[in-house]
Amino acid sequence: MNKNINSPKAEMVMVPLGGVGEIGMNCMMYGYGLKGDYKWIMVDLGLTFAGPREPGVEIIVPDISFAEQHRDKIEAIILTHAHEDHYGAIPDLWEGLQVPIYATPFTAAMLRAKLAREGMEDMVPIKEVPRRAKFDLGPFQIEMVDMAHSIPEPLGLHIKTDVGSVFHTGDWKLDPDPIVGPPTDEPRLKELGQQGIDVLVCDSTNATRDGTSISEIDVAKTMKELIKAAERRVIVTTFASNVARIKSVAEAAYEAGRYVILAGRALERVVNIAKETGYIPEDYSFLSDEDFQHLPAAECVVLATGSQGEGRAAMARIAEGSHPKIKPKPNDTVIFSSRTIPGNERSVSYIINLLSSMDLNIITESDAPVHVTGHPRRGELEQLYSWVKPDVIVPVHGEEQHLRAQQTFSKSQGIETVQIVRNGQLASILPAAPRIIDEVPNGRLYRDGHFILEDDEAIRVRRKISTVGAVTVSVIVDQKGDLVGLPCWTELGLPNDAETGEVDDIIIKAINGTFKSVPQKRRKDQNMLKEAIRRSVRSAINEYWGKKTVVTIMLHQI
Ligand SMILES: [Zn+2]
Ligand SMILES: [Zn+2]
Repeated sequence: MNKNINSPKAEMVMVPLGGVGEIGMNCMMYGYGLKGDYKWIMVDLGLTFAGPREPGVEIIVPDISFAEQHRDKIEAIILTHAHEDHYGAIPDLWEGLQVPIYATPFTAAMLRAKLAREGMEDMVPIKEVPRRAKFDLGPFQIEMVDMAHSIPEPLGLHIKTDVGSVFHTGDWKLDPDPIVGPPTDEPRLKELGQQGIDVLVCDSTNATRDGTSISEIDVAKTMKELIKAAERRVIVTTFASNVARIKSVAEAAYEAGRYVILAGRALERVVNIAKETGYIPEDYSFLSDEDFQHLPAAECVVLATGSQGEGRAAMARIAEGSHPKIKPKPNDTVIFSSRTIPGNERSVSYIINLLSSMDLNIITESDAPVHVTGHPRRGELEQLYSWVKPDVIVPVHGEEQHLRAQQTFSKSQGIETVQIVRNGQLASILPAAPRIIDEVPNGRLYRDGHFILEDDEAIRVRRKISTVGAVTVSVIVDQKGDLVGLPCWTELGLPNDAETGEVDDIIIKAINGTFKSVPQKRRKDQNMLKEAIRRSVRSAINEYWGKKTVVTIMLHQI
Protein backbone atom coordinates (compact mmCIF):
# COMPACT_ATOMS: atom_id res chain seq x y z
CA MET A 1 0.00 0.00 0.00
CA ASN A 2 1.06 3.55 -0.66
CA LYS A 3 2.15 5.10 2.62
CA ASN A 4 2.66 8.61 1.24
CA ILE A 5 -0.33 10.16 2.92
CA ASN A 6 -0.61 13.93 3.19
CA SER A 7 -3.71 13.99 5.29
CA PRO A 8 -3.73 11.16 7.81
CA LYS A 9 -7.49 10.81 7.76
CA ALA A 10 -8.15 11.10 4.04
CA GLU A 11 -9.39 7.93 2.41
CA MET A 12 -10.49 6.69 -0.95
CA VAL A 13 -13.92 5.11 -1.23
CA MET A 14 -16.02 3.50 -3.92
CA VAL A 15 -19.72 2.86 -4.32
CA PRO A 16 -21.25 1.05 -7.28
CA LEU A 17 -24.77 2.29 -8.05
CA GLY A 18 -25.20 -0.44 -10.68
CA GLY A 19 -23.29 -3.15 -12.50
CA VAL A 20 -22.42 -5.45 -9.60
CA GLY A 21 -24.49 -8.62 -9.24
CA GLU A 22 -25.78 -8.00 -12.75
CA ILE A 23 -24.46 -7.44 -16.26
CA GLY A 24 -25.86 -4.06 -17.16
CA MET A 25 -26.38 -0.46 -15.91
CA ASN A 26 -22.78 0.06 -14.88
CA CYS A 27 -22.27 3.10 -12.69
CA MET A 28 -19.33 3.38 -10.29
CA MET A 29 -18.47 6.29 -8.03
CA TYR A 30 -15.02 6.85 -6.57
CA GLY A 31 -14.60 9.31 -3.71
CA TYR A 32 -11.65 10.88 -1.94
CA GLY A 33 -11.53 12.97 1.21
CA LEU A 34 -12.18 12.96 4.93
CA LYS A 35 -14.76 10.48 6.12
CA GLY A 36 -18.21 11.63 5.06
CA ASP A 37 -16.89 14.58 3.04
CA TYR A 38 -15.70 13.28 -0.28
CA LYS A 39 -15.02 14.67 -3.73
CA TRP A 40 -16.33 12.26 -6.37
CA ILE A 41 -15.91 11.07 -9.90
CA MET A 42 -18.44 8.82 -11.62
CA VAL A 43 -17.30 6.14 -14.06
CA ASP A 44 -19.98 5.19 -16.61
CA LEU A 45 -23.74 5.64 -16.45
CA GLY A 46 -25.34 2.71 -18.25
CA LEU A 47 -28.70 1.05 -18.70
CA THR A 48 -30.16 -2.45 -18.76
CA PHE A 49 -32.73 -3.64 -21.26
CA ALA A 50 -36.01 -4.84 -19.84
CA GLY A 51 -36.77 -8.53 -20.14
CA PRO A 52 -39.98 -10.58 -20.19
CA ARG A 53 -40.36 -9.96 -16.45
CA GLU A 54 -40.76 -6.22 -17.08
CA PRO A 55 -43.58 -6.07 -19.65
CA GLY A 56 -43.96 -2.69 -21.31
CA VAL A 57 -40.76 -1.25 -19.83
CA GLU A 58 -38.37 0.17 -22.43
CA ILE A 59 -35.20 0.42 -20.40
CA ILE A 60 -33.99 0.17 -16.82
CA VAL A 61 -31.57 2.71 -15.35
CA PRO A 62 -29.87 2.86 -11.95
CA ASP A 63 -31.29 4.85 -9.06
CA ILE A 64 -28.60 7.50 -8.69
CA SER A 65 -30.29 9.60 -6.00
CA PHE A 66 -27.11 9.27 -3.90
CA ALA A 67 -25.07 10.88 -6.69
CA GLU A 68 -27.73 13.54 -7.19
CA GLN A 69 -27.51 14.47 -3.49
CA HIS A 70 -23.75 14.96 -3.88
CA ARG A 71 -23.72 16.43 -7.35
CA ASP A 72 -21.93 19.62 -6.23
CA LYS A 73 -19.02 17.42 -5.25
CA ILE A 74 -18.88 15.32 -8.41
CA GLU A 75 -16.01 16.49 -10.61
CA ALA A 76 -17.09 14.64 -13.76
CA ILE A 77 -18.44 11.49 -15.34
CA ILE A 78 -15.83 9.50 -17.28
CA LEU A 79 -17.03 7.04 -19.91
CA THR A 80 -15.03 3.86 -20.53
CA HIS A 81 -16.78 3.07 -23.85
CA ALA A 82 -19.97 3.52 -25.85
CA HIS A 83 -21.86 0.34 -25.00
CA GLU A 84 -25.38 0.90 -23.71
CA ASP A 85 -24.60 -0.75 -20.38
CA HIS A 86 -21.96 1.97 -19.85
CA TYR A 87 -23.41 5.15 -21.33
CA GLY A 88 -27.05 4.42 -22.20
CA ALA A 89 -28.60 6.10 -19.13
CA ILE A 90 -27.09 9.53 -19.79
CA PRO A 91 -30.13 10.98 -21.63
CA ASP A 92 -32.44 9.94 -18.77
CA LEU A 93 -30.20 10.76 -15.81
CA TRP A 94 -27.77 13.53 -16.74
CA GLU A 95 -30.16 16.35 -15.82
CA GLY A 96 -30.07 15.28 -12.17
CA LEU A 97 -26.26 15.54 -12.15
CA GLN A 98 -25.33 18.44 -14.47
CA VAL A 99 -21.64 17.53 -14.51
CA PRO A 100 -19.24 17.39 -17.49
CA ILE A 101 -18.64 14.10 -19.28
CA TYR A 102 -15.13 13.03 -20.30
CA ALA A 103 -14.91 10.74 -23.31
CA THR A 104 -12.52 9.83 -26.12
CA PRO A 105 -13.44 10.81 -29.71
CA PHE A 106 -15.42 7.70 -30.76
CA THR A 107 -17.31 7.48 -27.47
CA ALA A 108 -17.96 11.23 -27.57
CA ALA A 109 -19.31 11.00 -31.14
CA MET A 110 -21.59 8.11 -30.18
CA LEU A 111 -22.80 10.11 -27.17
CA ARG A 112 -23.43 13.23 -29.26
CA ALA A 113 -25.49 11.15 -31.72
CA LYS A 114 -27.46 9.60 -28.85
CA LEU A 115 -28.12 13.00 -27.24
CA ALA A 116 -29.14 14.47 -30.60
CA ARG A 117 -31.84 11.79 -30.92
CA GLU A 118 -33.24 13.01 -27.58
CA GLY A 119 -32.93 16.71 -28.50
CA MET A 120 -30.26 17.16 -25.80
CA GLU A 121 -27.15 17.81 -27.90
CA ASP A 122 -26.60 21.35 -26.61
CA MET A 123 -27.33 20.57 -22.97
CA VAL A 124 -24.57 18.19 -21.97
CA PRO A 125 -20.96 19.46 -21.77
CA ILE A 126 -18.78 16.77 -23.32
CA LYS A 127 -15.04 17.11 -22.76
CA GLU A 128 -13.46 15.20 -25.57
CA VAL A 129 -10.01 13.89 -24.70
CA PRO A 130 -7.62 11.82 -26.80
CA ARG A 131 -6.95 8.14 -26.08
CA ARG A 132 -4.30 7.74 -23.37
CA ALA A 133 -5.23 11.15 -21.96
CA LYS A 134 -3.92 12.14 -18.53
CA PHE A 135 -5.77 14.82 -16.60
CA ASP A 136 -6.57 15.86 -13.05
CA LEU A 137 -10.07 16.10 -11.65
CA GLY A 138 -9.89 17.68 -8.18
CA PRO A 139 -7.88 15.26 -6.02
CA PHE A 140 -7.91 12.53 -8.69
CA GLN A 141 -5.12 12.04 -11.22
CA ILE A 142 -6.63 10.18 -14.13
CA GLU A 143 -4.91 8.26 -16.89
CA MET A 144 -6.78 6.48 -19.67
CA VAL A 145 -5.19 3.20 -20.76
CA ASP A 146 -5.99 1.43 -24.05
CA MET A 147 -7.80 -1.87 -23.61
CA ALA A 148 -9.26 -4.22 -26.24
CA HIS A 149 -12.99 -5.04 -26.21
CA SER A 150 -15.66 -5.20 -28.94
CA ILE A 151 -16.08 -1.52 -29.81
CA PRO A 152 -13.55 1.20 -30.64
CA GLU A 153 -11.74 3.02 -27.81
CA PRO A 154 -12.51 0.93 -24.75
CA LEU A 155 -10.41 2.24 -21.92
CA GLY A 156 -9.22 1.34 -18.49
CA LEU A 157 -8.79 4.10 -15.92
CA HIS A 158 -5.82 4.54 -13.65
CA ILE A 159 -7.16 6.65 -10.81
CA LYS A 160 -4.56 7.98 -8.40
CA THR A 161 -4.97 10.02 -5.24
CA ASP A 162 -2.46 10.74 -2.49
CA VAL A 163 -3.61 7.65 -0.57
CA GLY A 164 -3.03 5.17 -3.39
CA SER A 165 -4.20 4.08 -6.79
CA VAL A 166 -6.98 2.11 -8.40
CA PHE A 167 -7.10 0.54 -11.84
CA HIS A 168 -10.66 0.32 -13.16
CA THR A 169 -10.49 -2.05 -16.13
CA GLY A 170 -13.81 -1.25 -17.81
CA ASP A 171 -14.82 -4.02 -20.23
CA TRP A 172 -11.72 -5.61 -21.69
CA LYS A 173 -10.02 -8.66 -23.09
CA LEU A 174 -6.65 -9.52 -24.54
CA ASP A 175 -6.51 -9.65 -28.29
CA PRO A 176 -3.26 -9.43 -30.29
CA ASP A 177 -5.22 -8.00 -33.24
CA PRO A 178 -8.54 -6.36 -32.40
CA ILE A 179 -8.72 -5.07 -36.05
CA VAL A 180 -9.77 -1.56 -34.99
CA GLY A 181 -7.67 0.24 -32.41
CA PRO A 182 -4.64 -1.04 -30.53
CA PRO A 183 -4.45 -4.15 -28.36
CA THR A 184 -4.65 -3.87 -24.57
CA ASP A 185 -1.64 -1.72 -23.60
CA GLU A 186 0.53 -4.34 -21.93
CA PRO A 187 3.68 -2.17 -21.64
CA ARG A 188 1.83 0.67 -19.91
CA LEU A 189 -0.03 -1.70 -17.59
CA LYS A 190 3.29 -3.29 -16.61
CA GLU A 191 4.78 0.15 -15.89
CA LEU A 192 1.80 1.15 -13.79
CA GLY A 193 2.05 -2.20 -12.00
CA GLN A 194 5.70 -1.51 -11.19
CA GLN A 195 4.82 1.94 -9.87
CA GLY A 196 2.24 0.20 -7.69
CA ILE A 197 -1.46 -0.35 -8.29
CA ASP A 198 -3.23 -1.00 -5.00
CA VAL A 199 -6.74 -1.95 -6.09
CA LEU A 200 -7.84 -3.62 -9.32
CA VAL A 201 -11.55 -3.17 -10.09
CA CYS A 202 -12.02 -5.84 -12.74
CA ASP A 203 -14.54 -7.16 -15.31
CA SER A 204 -15.90 -10.58 -14.19
CA THR A 205 -18.15 -11.43 -17.17
CA ASN A 206 -16.14 -14.47 -18.35
CA ALA A 207 -14.48 -15.43 -15.05
CA THR A 208 -16.36 -18.74 -15.14
CA ARG A 209 -14.52 -19.72 -18.34
CA ASP A 210 -11.03 -21.19 -18.60
CA GLY A 211 -8.40 -20.38 -21.19
CA THR A 212 -8.21 -17.41 -23.52
CA SER A 213 -10.45 -16.33 -26.40
CA ILE A 214 -9.63 -16.37 -30.08
CA SER A 215 -8.79 -13.06 -31.73
CA GLU A 216 -11.04 -10.80 -33.75
CA ILE A 217 -8.65 -11.53 -36.66
CA ASP A 218 -9.64 -15.23 -36.48
CA VAL A 219 -13.28 -14.25 -36.80
CA ALA A 220 -12.37 -12.07 -39.78
CA LYS A 221 -10.70 -15.09 -41.45
CA THR A 222 -13.79 -17.23 -40.91
CA MET A 223 -16.03 -14.52 -42.34
CA LYS A 224 -13.82 -14.34 -45.42
CA GLU A 225 -14.03 -18.10 -45.95
CA LEU A 226 -17.78 -18.26 -45.43
CA ILE A 227 -18.58 -15.30 -47.65
CA LYS A 228 -16.23 -16.55 -50.37
CA ALA A 229 -17.74 -20.03 -50.28
CA ALA A 230 -21.37 -18.88 -50.36
CA GLU A 231 -23.08 -19.20 -53.73
CA ARG A 232 -25.92 -16.87 -53.04
CA ARG A 233 -26.66 -13.96 -50.74
CA VAL A 234 -25.10 -13.74 -47.28
CA ILE A 235 -26.91 -11.91 -44.49
CA VAL A 236 -24.75 -11.18 -41.43
CA THR A 237 -26.20 -9.93 -38.19
CA THR A 238 -24.02 -8.57 -35.42
CA PHE A 239 -23.99 -5.90 -32.70
CA ALA A 240 -24.21 -2.54 -34.45
CA SER A 241 -21.41 -1.07 -32.31
CA ASN A 242 -18.92 -3.80 -33.26
CA VAL A 243 -16.97 -1.73 -35.75
CA ALA A 244 -14.24 -4.36 -36.13
CA ARG A 245 -16.83 -6.92 -37.23
CA ILE A 246 -18.43 -4.46 -39.67
CA LYS A 247 -14.99 -3.77 -41.13
CA SER A 248 -14.20 -7.49 -41.41
CA VAL A 249 -17.47 -8.20 -43.20
CA ALA A 250 -16.91 -5.26 -45.56
CA GLU A 251 -13.43 -6.55 -46.41
CA ALA A 252 -14.61 -10.14 -46.82
CA ALA A 253 -17.35 -8.91 -49.18
CA TYR A 254 -14.92 -6.79 -51.16
CA GLU A 255 -12.53 -9.75 -51.61
CA ALA A 256 -15.41 -11.91 -52.80
CA GLY A 257 -16.55 -9.26 -55.30
CA ARG A 258 -19.68 -8.40 -53.34
CA TYR A 259 -21.42 -5.23 -52.19
CA VAL A 260 -22.52 -4.62 -48.60
CA ILE A 261 -26.02 -3.40 -47.84
CA LEU A 262 -26.64 -1.89 -44.41
CA ALA A 263 -30.03 -2.80 -42.93
CA GLY A 264 -30.89 -0.98 -39.73
CA ARG A 265 -30.45 2.62 -38.63
CA ALA A 266 -28.12 1.77 -35.74
CA LEU A 267 -25.64 0.26 -38.22
CA GLU A 268 -25.80 3.30 -40.51
CA ARG A 269 -25.15 5.55 -37.52
CA VAL A 270 -22.18 3.55 -36.28
CA VAL A 271 -20.65 3.31 -39.77
CA ASN A 272 -20.88 7.11 -40.15
CA ILE A 273 -19.27 7.71 -36.77
CA ALA A 274 -16.59 5.08 -37.45
CA LYS A 275 -15.73 6.85 -40.71
CA GLU A 276 -15.65 10.29 -39.00
CA THR A 277 -13.32 8.98 -36.31
CA GLY A 278 -11.10 7.02 -38.68
CA TYR A 279 -12.02 3.45 -37.72
CA ILE A 280 -13.53 2.61 -41.11
CA PRO A 281 -11.80 4.09 -44.17
CA GLU A 282 -13.79 6.87 -45.86
CA ASP A 283 -13.72 5.04 -49.20
CA TYR A 284 -15.48 1.90 -47.93
CA SER A 285 -18.84 2.17 -49.58
CA PHE A 286 -22.06 0.68 -48.31
CA LEU A 287 -25.37 0.41 -50.12
CA SER A 288 -28.83 0.91 -48.67
CA ASP A 289 -31.62 -1.66 -48.57
CA GLU A 290 -33.12 0.07 -51.62
CA ASP A 291 -30.39 -1.64 -53.68
CA PHE A 292 -31.31 -5.15 -52.56
CA GLN A 293 -33.66 -5.97 -55.41
CA HIS A 294 -31.16 -4.85 -58.10
CA LEU A 295 -28.19 -6.83 -56.82
CA PRO A 296 -27.50 -10.33 -58.18
CA ALA A 297 -27.59 -12.84 -55.31
CA ALA A 298 -23.92 -13.72 -55.76
CA GLU A 299 -22.88 -10.08 -55.32
CA CYS A 300 -24.80 -9.34 -52.18
CA VAL A 301 -23.90 -9.22 -48.49
CA VAL A 302 -26.43 -7.71 -46.09
CA LEU A 303 -25.33 -6.47 -42.65
CA ALA A 304 -28.40 -6.39 -40.45
CA THR A 305 -29.19 -5.22 -36.93
CA GLY A 306 -31.10 -7.47 -34.56
CA SER A 307 -28.70 -10.27 -33.59
CA GLN A 308 -30.53 -10.55 -30.25
CA GLY A 309 -33.91 -11.14 -31.87
CA GLU A 310 -35.11 -7.59 -31.11
CA GLY A 311 -38.65 -7.37 -32.48
CA ARG A 312 -38.32 -4.13 -34.43
CA ALA A 313 -34.79 -4.66 -35.76
CA ALA A 314 -33.99 -5.57 -39.37
CA MET A 315 -33.26 -9.27 -38.73
CA ALA A 316 -36.66 -9.91 -37.13
CA ARG A 317 -38.46 -8.15 -39.96
CA ILE A 318 -36.47 -10.07 -42.57
CA ALA A 319 -37.36 -13.34 -40.82
CA GLU A 320 -41.03 -12.43 -40.51
CA GLY A 321 -41.20 -11.38 -44.17
CA SER A 322 -42.21 -7.85 -43.18
CA HIS A 323 -39.00 -6.08 -44.21
CA PRO A 324 -40.01 -3.75 -47.05
CA LYS A 325 -36.88 -4.39 -49.14
CA ILE A 326 -34.91 -7.39 -47.98
CA LYS A 327 -36.48 -10.68 -49.02
CA PRO A 328 -34.13 -13.67 -48.81
CA LYS A 329 -34.62 -16.71 -51.04
CA PRO A 330 -33.93 -20.42 -50.36
CA ASN A 331 -30.24 -21.32 -50.02
CA ASP A 332 -29.19 -17.81 -49.02
CA THR A 333 -26.95 -17.87 -45.94
CA VAL A 334 -27.58 -16.12 -42.63
CA ILE A 335 -24.66 -15.72 -40.19
CA PHE A 336 -25.32 -14.84 -36.55
CA SER A 337 -21.99 -13.16 -35.81
CA SER A 338 -22.92 -12.68 -32.18
CA ARG A 339 -23.55 -14.39 -28.90
CA THR A 340 -27.09 -14.62 -27.60
CA ILE A 341 -27.16 -12.61 -24.38
CA PRO A 342 -28.78 -14.58 -21.54
CA GLY A 343 -32.47 -13.73 -21.49
CA ASN A 344 -32.70 -13.35 -25.28
CA GLU A 345 -32.57 -17.07 -26.14
CA ARG A 346 -36.28 -17.35 -26.92
CA SER A 347 -36.48 -14.42 -29.29
CA VAL A 348 -33.29 -15.47 -31.11
CA SER A 349 -34.52 -19.03 -31.43
CA TYR A 350 -37.87 -17.76 -32.76
CA ILE A 351 -36.04 -15.84 -35.52
CA ILE A 352 -33.76 -18.79 -36.34
CA ASN A 353 -36.78 -21.07 -36.68
CA LEU A 354 -38.49 -18.63 -39.03
CA LEU A 355 -35.33 -18.36 -41.15
CA SER A 356 -34.93 -22.14 -41.19
CA SER A 357 -38.47 -22.55 -42.44
CA MET A 358 -37.48 -20.35 -45.42
CA ASP A 359 -34.77 -22.90 -46.37
CA LEU A 360 -31.90 -20.57 -45.52
CA ASN A 361 -28.51 -21.85 -44.34
CA ILE A 362 -28.03 -20.65 -40.79
CA ILE A 363 -24.56 -20.34 -39.29
CA THR A 364 -24.13 -19.49 -35.62
CA GLU A 365 -21.27 -19.45 -33.16
CA SER A 366 -21.82 -23.14 -32.52
CA ASP A 367 -21.16 -23.99 -36.21
CA ALA A 368 -18.06 -21.86 -36.86
CA PRO A 369 -15.90 -19.23 -35.11
CA VAL A 370 -18.07 -16.34 -36.30
CA HIS A 371 -17.99 -14.47 -33.02
CA VAL A 372 -15.63 -13.78 -30.15
CA THR A 373 -16.43 -12.45 -26.73
CA GLY A 374 -15.29 -9.01 -25.59
CA HIS A 375 -14.51 -10.07 -22.02
CA PRO A 376 -11.54 -11.78 -20.36
CA ARG A 377 -11.49 -15.47 -19.61
CA ARG A 378 -9.39 -16.77 -16.73
CA GLY A 379 -6.22 -17.02 -18.82
CA GLU A 380 -6.52 -13.32 -19.62
CA LEU A 381 -7.35 -12.38 -16.03
CA GLU A 382 -4.21 -14.24 -14.96
CA GLN A 383 -2.09 -12.18 -17.35
CA LEU A 384 -3.57 -8.87 -16.27
CA TYR A 385 -3.04 -9.73 -12.59
CA SER A 386 0.61 -10.52 -13.33
CA TRP A 387 1.14 -7.15 -15.03
CA VAL A 388 -0.76 -4.99 -12.54
CA LYS A 389 0.15 -6.92 -9.38
CA PRO A 390 -2.67 -5.49 -7.28
CA ASP A 391 -2.94 -5.95 -3.50
CA VAL A 392 -6.71 -6.02 -3.69
CA ILE A 393 -9.21 -7.15 -6.31
CA VAL A 394 -12.77 -5.87 -6.48
CA PRO A 395 -14.76 -7.97 -8.99
CA VAL A 396 -17.42 -6.02 -10.89
CA HIS A 397 -19.40 -6.36 -14.16
CA GLY A 398 -20.91 -9.74 -13.41
CA GLU A 399 -23.80 -11.62 -11.92
CA GLU A 400 -23.24 -13.29 -8.57
CA GLN A 401 -21.75 -16.42 -10.20
CA HIS A 402 -19.25 -14.36 -12.20
CA LEU A 403 -18.20 -12.24 -9.21
CA ARG A 404 -17.67 -15.38 -7.14
CA ALA A 405 -15.74 -17.03 -9.97
CA GLN A 406 -13.33 -14.11 -10.13
CA GLN A 407 -13.06 -14.10 -6.34
CA THR A 408 -12.09 -17.78 -6.29
CA PHE A 409 -9.79 -17.42 -9.26
CA SER A 410 -7.91 -14.38 -7.95
CA LYS A 411 -7.32 -16.15 -4.63
CA SER A 412 -5.90 -19.11 -6.57
CA GLN A 413 -3.53 -16.61 -8.21
CA GLY A 414 -2.17 -15.57 -4.82
CA ILE A 415 -4.13 -12.36 -4.40
CA GLU A 416 -5.17 -12.52 -0.77
CA THR A 417 -7.69 -9.72 -0.56
CA VAL A 418 -10.76 -9.91 -2.75
CA GLN A 419 -13.58 -7.61 -1.73
CA ILE A 420 -16.98 -7.84 -3.38
CA VAL A 421 -18.66 -4.43 -3.14
CA ARG A 422 -22.32 -4.73 -4.09
CA ASN A 423 -24.57 -2.07 -5.56
CA GLY A 424 -25.20 0.58 -2.92
CA GLN A 425 -22.36 -0.50 -0.62
CA LEU A 426 -19.92 2.29 0.21
CA ALA A 427 -16.50 0.76 0.72
CA SER A 428 -13.37 2.39 2.06
CA ILE A 429 -10.64 1.00 -0.20
CA LEU A 430 -7.51 3.03 0.59
CA PRO A 431 -5.16 3.50 2.37
CA ALA A 432 -6.31 0.72 4.74
CA ALA A 433 -7.58 -2.71 3.74
CA PRO A 434 -11.00 -2.53 2.07
CA ARG A 435 -14.14 -2.67 4.16
CA ILE A 436 -17.80 -1.77 3.71
CA ILE A 437 -18.59 1.33 5.78
CA ASP A 438 -22.06 2.37 4.70
CA GLU A 439 -25.09 1.59 2.54
CA VAL A 440 -26.51 4.25 0.19
CA PRO A 441 -29.81 4.36 -1.71
CA ASN A 442 -29.71 2.25 -4.85
CA GLY A 443 -32.02 0.29 -7.09
CA ARG A 444 -33.60 0.21 -10.50
CA LEU A 445 -35.74 2.81 -12.24
CA TYR A 446 -38.01 1.76 -15.09
CA ARG A 447 -38.60 3.95 -18.14
CA ASP A 448 -42.19 3.39 -19.03
CA GLY A 449 -43.52 5.65 -21.81
CA HIS A 450 -43.16 9.24 -20.57
CA PHE A 451 -42.60 8.10 -16.98
CA ILE A 452 -39.67 6.91 -14.92
CA LEU A 453 -41.12 4.51 -12.34
CA GLU A 454 -39.39 4.19 -9.00
CA ASP A 455 -41.10 1.04 -7.89
CA ASP A 456 -42.24 -1.91 -9.90
CA GLU A 457 -45.83 -2.21 -8.60
CA ALA A 458 -47.38 -1.31 -11.98
CA ILE A 459 -45.04 -3.76 -13.71
CA ARG A 460 -45.88 -6.46 -11.18
CA VAL A 461 -49.60 -6.01 -11.96
CA ARG A 462 -48.90 -6.14 -15.72
CA ARG A 463 -46.95 -9.34 -15.25
CA LYS A 464 -49.86 -10.80 -13.30
CA ILE A 465 -52.49 -9.75 -15.86
CA SER A 466 -50.32 -11.29 -18.58
CA THR A 467 -50.76 -14.72 -16.98
CA VAL A 468 -54.20 -14.61 -15.36
CA GLY A 469 -56.14 -11.98 -17.33
CA ALA A 470 -58.57 -9.54 -15.78
CA VAL A 471 -62.28 -9.32 -15.05
CA THR A 472 -64.10 -6.05 -14.33
CA VAL A 473 -67.58 -6.21 -12.78
CA SER A 474 -69.96 -3.26 -12.49
CA VAL A 475 -72.46 -3.47 -9.62
CA ILE A 476 -75.25 -1.00 -8.74
CA VAL A 477 -76.66 -0.62 -5.20
CA ASP A 478 -79.39 1.59 -3.83
CA GLN A 479 -79.27 3.85 -0.75
CA LYS A 480 -80.10 0.90 1.52
CA GLY A 481 -77.24 -1.13 0.10
CA ASP A 482 -79.42 -3.55 -1.87
CA LEU A 483 -78.45 -4.78 -5.32
CA VAL A 484 -80.18 -3.00 -8.24
CA GLY A 485 -80.58 -4.77 -11.59
CA LEU A 486 -78.10 -7.25 -13.00
CA PRO A 487 -74.33 -6.72 -12.68
CA CYS A 488 -72.38 -6.24 -15.95
CA TRP A 489 -68.94 -7.67 -16.49
CA THR A 490 -66.18 -7.68 -19.03
CA GLU A 491 -63.04 -9.77 -19.31
CA LEU A 492 -59.58 -9.62 -20.81
CA GLY A 493 -57.60 -12.76 -21.51
CA LEU A 494 -59.96 -15.42 -20.13
CA PRO A 495 -60.31 -18.65 -22.13
CA ASN A 496 -62.91 -18.47 -24.93
CA ASP A 497 -65.20 -20.87 -23.10
CA ALA A 498 -65.62 -18.20 -20.44
CA GLU A 499 -67.63 -16.12 -22.87
CA THR A 500 -70.58 -18.48 -22.56
CA GLY A 501 -73.51 -17.79 -20.28
CA GLU A 502 -71.96 -20.16 -17.74
CA VAL A 503 -69.64 -17.45 -16.44
CA ASP A 504 -72.51 -14.95 -16.26
CA ASP A 505 -74.26 -17.36 -13.93
CA ILE A 506 -71.12 -17.94 -11.87
CA ILE A 507 -70.50 -14.21 -11.40
CA ILE A 508 -74.14 -13.41 -10.61
CA LYS A 509 -74.31 -16.28 -8.14
CA ALA A 510 -71.11 -15.07 -6.43
CA ILE A 511 -72.46 -11.52 -6.16
CA ASN A 512 -75.87 -12.62 -4.88
CA GLY A 513 -74.11 -14.83 -2.33
CA THR A 514 -72.09 -11.87 -1.10
CA PHE A 515 -75.20 -9.72 -0.63
CA LYS A 516 -76.85 -12.53 1.31
CA SER A 517 -73.88 -13.04 3.61
CA VAL A 518 -73.19 -9.34 4.35
CA PRO A 519 -75.92 -7.80 6.56
CA GLN A 520 -77.64 -4.74 5.07
CA LYS A 521 -76.29 -2.23 7.58
CA ARG A 522 -72.69 -3.31 6.99
CA ARG A 523 -73.13 -2.84 3.24
CA LYS A 524 -73.05 0.95 3.81
CA ASP A 525 -69.27 0.55 4.08
CA GLN A 526 -68.72 0.57 0.34
CA ASN A 527 -65.04 -0.38 0.48
CA MET A 528 -65.85 -3.40 2.59
CA LEU A 529 -68.67 -4.39 0.23
CA LYS A 530 -66.49 -3.97 -2.84
CA GLU A 531 -63.75 -6.10 -1.33
CA ALA A 532 -66.22 -8.82 -0.31
CA ILE A 533 -67.67 -8.95 -3.85
CA ARG A 534 -64.16 -8.97 -5.36
CA ARG A 535 -63.08 -11.90 -3.25
CA SER A 536 -66.14 -13.99 -3.94
CA VAL A 537 -66.06 -13.33 -7.72
CA ARG A 538 -62.37 -14.19 -7.81
CA SER A 539 -62.83 -17.43 -5.93
CA ALA A 540 -65.85 -18.43 -8.06
CA ILE A 541 -63.84 -17.87 -11.27
CA ASN A 542 -60.93 -19.76 -9.74
CA GLU A 543 -63.21 -22.72 -9.10
CA TYR A 544 -64.43 -22.62 -12.71
CA TRP A 545 -61.17 -21.81 -14.53
CA GLY A 546 -58.48 -22.92 -12.11
CA LYS A 547 -56.79 -19.51 -12.04
CA LYS A 548 -57.06 -16.51 -9.77
CA THR A 549 -57.72 -13.72 -12.24
CA VAL A 550 -57.37 -10.02 -11.40
CA VAL A 551 -60.87 -8.83 -10.45
CA THR A 552 -61.88 -5.16 -10.29
CA ILE A 553 -65.28 -4.16 -8.92
CA MET A 554 -66.91 -0.88 -9.91
CA LEU A 555 -69.57 -0.13 -7.34
CA HIS A 556 -72.13 2.58 -8.11
CA GLN A 557 -74.73 3.87 -5.66
CA ILE A 558 -77.99 5.40 -6.88
ZN1 LIG B 1 -18.80 -3.25 -23.28
ZN1 LIG C 1 -20.30 -3.81 -20.25
